[in-house]
Amino acid sequence: MHDFPWHRRAVLGAMAALGTQALPRFDAFAAVSDPFALGVASGDPAADGFVLWTRLVGPAGAPLPPRAVPVRFEVAEDEAFHRIVRTGTAIARPEAAHSVHVELGGLRPGRTYWYRFHSLSATSPVGRTKTVPANADRLRLAMTSCQHWELGWFRAYRDMIAAAPDLIVQVGDYIYEQAYPDQPKVRSFGAADPTDLDGYRARYALYRSDPDLREAHRLFPWLVTWDDHEVLNDYAALANREGLPPDVFAPRRAAAYQAYFEHMPIRPSLWRSRPAPRLFRGVDWGELASLSMLDTRQYRSAAACAKPYVARNVKLDHCAERLGAGRSMLGDVQEAWLADRLSRERRPWTLLAQGVFFAPLALDGTGDTFWADQWDGYPAGRDRLLDQMAQPSVNCPVVLSGDIHSFWVNDLRRGDAHRGIVGTEIVTSALAAQSPPQGRFGDVLTNNSHIRFSDVDHTGYVLLEMDRQRMTAQLRRIDAHRPDARASVLATVTQDSRAKGHPATVTP
Ligand code: FE
Ligand code: CA
Repeated sequence: MHDFPWHRRAVLGAMAALGTQALPRFDAFAAVSDPFALGVASGDPAADGFVLWTRLVGPAGAPLPPRAVPVRFEVAEDEAFHRIVRTGTAIARPEAAHSVHVELGGLRPGRTYWYRFHSLSATSPVGRTKTVPANADRLRLAMTSCQHWELGWFRAYRDMIAAAPDLIVQVGDYIYEQAYPDQPKVRSFGAADPTDLDGYRARYALYRSDPDLREAHRLFPWLVTWDDHEVLNDYAALANREGLPPDVFAPRRAAAYQAYFEHMPIRPSLWRSRPAPRLFRGVDWGELASLSMLDTRQYRSAAACAKPYVARNVKLDHCAERLGAGRSMLGDVQEAWLADRLSRERRPWTLLAQGVFFAPLALDGTGDTFWADQWDGYPAGRDRLLDQMAQPSVNCPVVLSGDIHSFWVNDLRRGDAHRGIVGTEIVTSALAAQSPPQGRFGDVLTNNSHIRFSDVDHTGYVLLEMDRQRMTAQLRRIDAHRPDARASVLATVTQDSRAKGHPATVTP
């Protein structure tokens, strides 16, 4: 047995906690070069705590042998770990890919904490995170989506790190399950498209080998939700582009969801306490802003005007089924949860972070041709949400979206244009992926008067900053094909929280 640089009693305690399971044989892992090669992460902050994450791996990011391994964690008020405020031991289990999620409470609000893990004779990099302030007067958050490993460098994270946000909000397509052989590549997946648990796990491990992505996780708390590529492009609940029946697709989706959880700083209390994984949740930034993280994939109604089990992002041309009153993007339970949350809202800013384009996007002059995969495929569900956003309790709602590899700023309206503006949508471009083909969105500015800005030529992310009066959002562009690229401002969106019902201002 090897000597451990950390507390022996904690190891013994952790071993006792393993109960009847075989005790870990540490000598089998002695050859491991860096069990913390995938880094550390924190997320889902509250005023009194957060969740800490790591995952132990073998050489070259390969899974460890199938035995449980104790992992000791330390949380300190200073970077040198002189003032340690929490310690404990978690068990990294093979059935969870040796991932560890430590959920902490009872900490002080508005404070920076440093954390690290010890296991297998190694110590992790020191992570940094922050609790939500009790009296928040500002919030800076970076919003990102769509990072394709092969199609771009993740250098935008360097710019994000320099901006020092309070939170990084990832609204989906964190991984891509799919290669695009026709597009110019900067690097290779080195593996086939994943379809099972091992394949999805390996894809996340590959992603975390990117130093810029890993550093962004180490330095800031993240709030994540998924879109489709975490499982399969364009899937809707259990319908999918390949038309696979539910008995084939459901286990594949469950494997993809499990791998997602194993690699993200998500609270296990939320995820595991229900029969199906739950990702939708609220995080409130004091009395300044509420953030609702929505799941726009798991509970969707079936795709309109499609065959059973089939969901593809096709153009819906005069599809009457699309307009069905019972159609929902969020599903009944999530809709009810969000309706309750919005009815009790009181903060200047109400942020709704979610995967796909929310505003209508008419693709031609008929006004009845739309992409199936966006909220346009579910207009009744969108109308219900707009009604809730228009309640007096909700002051300035801002929908934060991704998915379509282009930047957009949209006025959100109910019904006809004369009823005033309910809120604003900001769509971030891909952090690293191909731009959409020319003409994909038709003559957008002619057919959609509520679209105030669109740019379909650049990758990047959005940096939002708000205080009680003012929100400023920079749409930051960066060329993901160039490893030495630097970011610059493509446009700036400003909104005054006291000017309810007035549109945001966009300055190029
Ligand atoms: Fe995408
Ligand atoms: Ca997507």
